[in-house]
Amino acid sequence: MTTARELDCLRLIYEKSGDGWPVRLADVAKSMSVKPPTALAMVEKLVREGLLKKGPSGYALTEEGKKEAENLVMAHRVVETLLYRAGFTPDEACVQARKFDTFVPEVVVRKLYDYLGRPNECPHGKEIAC
Ligand SMILES: [Zn+2]
Repeated sequence: MTTARELDCLRLIYEKSGDGWPVRLADVAKSMSVKPPTALAMVEKLVREGLLKKGPSGYALTEEGKKEAENLVMAHRVVETLLYRAGFTPDEACVQARKFDTFVPEVVVRKLYDYLGRPNECPHGKEIAC
């Protein structure tokens, strides 16, 4: 099973890799504020789960990993929009949403997305991640 922390790691690689460039282990460690061995354990587990692949110059998302990351970004955007409409500022909504968006089941995300009127962008106007 993929933990919330590993999903955060996946999201990070998704955000950093942009149009498919691999992400170096050192960057993962730095961005997640963990030591390289901890980052290595995390990415290796994601590789075993088929979400990441290792290339000569770093790690990249597999098709499945990309889909998983996109679901996560969608969950973030939906939760963030909900919090924003409840009265948080866009930045507060983003920070608070990050604390639990990995735990929201996909069926709940879809329901909330419809409930919110299918928003296209997050409260601070970015189309996907922020
Ligand atoms: Zn955000």
